[in-house]
Amino acid sequence: MPWIPYGRHAIDTDDIDAVVNVLKSEWLTTGPKVAEFEMAVALYCGAKHAVSFANATAALHISCKALDVGTGDVVWTTPNTFVASANGALYCGATIDFVDIDPDTYNMSVVVLEEKLRKARQNKTLPKVVIPVDFAGQSCDMKAMAQLADEYGFKIIEDASHAIGGSYCGQKIGCSKYADITIFSFHPVKVMTTGEGGMALTNNQHLAKKLSLLRTHGITRDPAEMCYETEGPWYVEQIDLGFNYRLTDMQSALGISQLKKLDTFIEKRQYLAQRYDQLLGELPLKLLTVSPHNECAYHLYPIQILNDNMPFARRKVVEQCHSAGIGVQVHYIPVHLHPYYQKQFGFKRGDFPVSESYYQRALSLPLYVGLTEQQQNYIVQTMIKLIGVPVYG
Ligand SMILES: *Cc1c(COP(=O)(O)O)cnc(C)c1O
Repeated sequence: MPWIPYGRHAIDTDDIDAVVNVLKSEWLTTGPKVAEFEMAVALYCGAKHAVSFANATAALHISCKALDVGTGDVVWTTPNTFVASANGALYCGATIDFVDIDPDTYNMSVVVLEEKLRKARQNKTLPKVVIPVDFAGQSCDMKAMAQLADEYGFKIIEDASHAIGGSYCGQKIGCSKYADITIFSFHPVKVMTTGEGGMALTNNQHLAKKLSLLRTHGITRDPAEMCYETEGPWYVEQIDLGFNYRLTDMQSALGISQLKKLDTFIEKRQYLAQRYDQLLGELPLKLLTVSPHNECAYHLYPIQILNDNMPFARRKVVEQCHSAGIGVQVHYIPVHLHPYYQKQFGFKRGDFPVSESYYQRALSLPLYVGLTEQQQNYIVQTMIKLIGVPVYG
């Protein structure tokens, strides 16, 4: 059986045609497709504004900047994420801290967040921005977080890199009802792809303007934003220090084409996830808990191995899966345990015990649109062989 990766893009001939058409057109980078893609994503999610970026990391960086995160500010995120969720704040000179996760959803715990906020208020170390992450494609408890944001005066960037196509309390993730800005990633392993790509969604017009200004060098063409009278049709002004973080028309055309299929992508992912739930139900595993008001986009299918005393520890299971051609992965090494974070901020083992204990037992099984039931059966059979050891005595 050929290698089964943990995640994979789904590209069809419509996607290929869409990109080829752009290659034959007048515009390769910022042309009509960028704006069309942004409008399509905003419409799909029910948000007022969507600003595209070269990747989600760039979108996270600029979102922190747009919320005026700078030196001396404190930003909180979850340890159970890709480092990019935290790095965006560090690019702005901020200090990072973490909030431990809920043991069932693996998302930032609202209980821990509230307790940490109460202490931070006393110590005058409240965060300027909190970045919850919709792990595996399940929304965090955003209503509760928005209430805490009001009470403690911080802003929210919802890192929904895993979660486009999912919904929360009957609304699409990305509607940004409970977040100042929501971020999507279109990396090929994610739910839909543009190759590299990201998006920041917001209902705040001022923030949307800032996001698009900083995405392209801090240069404006809008006379209303300029300091001086225009000197002619060529005239632009750099009014802030921005970056070159643009998405291209080629990528946007792919995004428009992928977005049309997003709902069927999600249906397939949910189908396969439920099938895993059933087939793995008897094994000594802890499966992801999806709370009733959530529709999970299932970027990942995370499991925890519970049988400590069995001959196979997590590492062995991963190695044996790889030998069997199954590309299981581990999401995530807690961010605070990376050497850079330990050196820079003094984090150590034991600081965020729930994330650490989850990490010790976690692995992600392959889940993507093109995964066949036959491949899934093979993965399940392999897991049964590795950890479905009969309990003796
Ligand atoms: C993938 C991912 C990112 C980074 O996305 P890029 O588009 O690759 O920059 C950020 N946060 C999370 C949670 C991710 O999974």
